[in-house]
This record gives sequence, structure tokens and C-alpha cells, in this order.
Amino acid sequence: MKWRYVEIKSSDQQVNLLVSKSSAKGSTMRILVIEDESRMLELLRKGLYEHGFTVMTAADGESGLEIATVYECDAIVLDIGLPRLDGYALLQALRARSRTTPVLMLTARDTEDDMIRGFDVGADDYLTKPFSFPELVARLKSITRRLREKGDGMIKAADVAIDPIRHTVTRARDSIDITRLEFRLLECLLRRAGQCVTRQALTEQVWGAEHPVGPTALDVLVNSLRAKIDAPYPSKRIGTVRGSGYMFLLSAMAPGSESR
Ligand code: CA
Repeated sequence: MKWRYVEIKSSDQQVNLLVSKSSAKGSTMRILVIEDESRMLELLRKGLYEHGFTVMTAADGESGLEIATVYECDAIVLDIGLPRLDGYALLQALRARSRTTPVLMLTARDTEDDMIRGFDVGADDYLTKPFSFPELVARLKSITRRLREKGDGMIKAADVAIDPIRHTVTRARDSIDITRLEFRLLECLLRRAGQCVTRQALTEQVWGAEHPVGPTALDVLVNSLRAKIDAPYPSKRIGTVRGSGYMFLLSAMAPGSESR
């Protein structure tokens, strides 16, 4: 693997990042980066993407909290100094909403007080700028692994189960082969089983807000997922909520939805 150092300087910080030139395949962990410094945010976004992560970003505390609450992500990289809501307050609010998403805090300051305060409000790990990219990636993998080890990491609803790390899917104990995009779609639906997930939320989570797709792409993907997960079985799980989105059905049919 080839590496290059990128150094950026701004008025209040100097950051060295080790950015991978080759893209690592095999990981689609979803990372939310909350950072107000635009060049730092861009470097994190690009670097994590190149390491195979799916990256969502927010540039202030309020929108970061909103995204972290509404969207499921596997880990959060959280800057402390943020406009509108600082990193500590954001994390406190997130934990108060029972969100256990692992959080790695970033700070330009390396004081014990900051660290203790971070852990007090629910941070899982801590990294001081400047840091190297391999270290960031290793820490992210470590905090997500720690969380997984607490449970089996499987997401289950009705007779469907998926493993977000190994990317395996089973229905009624049958192993089902699905594509990476189909997997993301199914994961979004399963994580909010029994609730309508809007077309916009699904499109953003499957393709990313930065990769716009045409209006029919989602329907095409839903159809190909249904062919694998629903067609061979008598009870249909992926329901259409007319005019809104799609829903993973916990019972055979939910009010206001139809199977196709
Ligand atoms: Ca900042």
C-alpha cells in the first residue's frame, strides 16, 4: 500500500494526515464525521472513503446531532470545538437519546481534563491532532469491534438476519447472496423495521448524498432485493409505503402499505 503525507495548516491548527493512495476494499462501515474546519473535514472524508468507509459529514454540532440521531452509523469521528453545539454537549445529548454509536473524539488540545471530560460524556476513544490516518483507521476499527463484542452484532427482524460486518444475509436460515447496494438497502430497512423509511433517506444511505442517482434507481434496487429476499418466500417483508418510501414489514402486511 502506498502512502503520502498531507499537511494542512490553518489559523488554529496544523494537521498531518497520512492518506492512502490505494483504495481498500471489503469494508463498508459507515462513519459520520463532525468537524467544522472545512479542509480537515474534506481530508477526513476523502481519506476514510479511500479506506473503504462510507462517510457522512456534518460541519456543526446541531446538524451533527441530527444526523447521528436519525441515521444509523457504525462510528462517529467528533471534533470538540464546533459551532452551535460543542462536541461534549453533542455527545451528551446523543447518549441521552440512548444512541450507543461508538464515538472517537478529536481535539487539538492534549490535556488530561479534555480526555476525562470526553470519557465522562460517553466517548469511546480519543485522538489528538495531529494524528496519522492509519492510527485513526485502527482506532475506528477497534471501537466498533469492542461494541460488536458486547453483542453478536447481528441485526434481526422477523425471519431475516444480517451481519453488517461479514455482510451475510439469511432468511429462514437460508443464506442469501446479495450485492453491496442491496445489502445497504436491506440494512437501512432492517434497522428501522416496522417503520417507513423515506425514499430520500434510503437513497442517501445507499448511494451517499454526494453520489446523486436518478429517481428510478431506488425502485430498481428494491425490485432486485425483493427478487432475492421475498420472491422465494410466502410472506413478503419489503413493503411499499405509497408516496413516502419503503418499510420492512414485521407482520404480513402493515396498515398503509402494500407488498408491491
Ligand atoms: Ca473545530
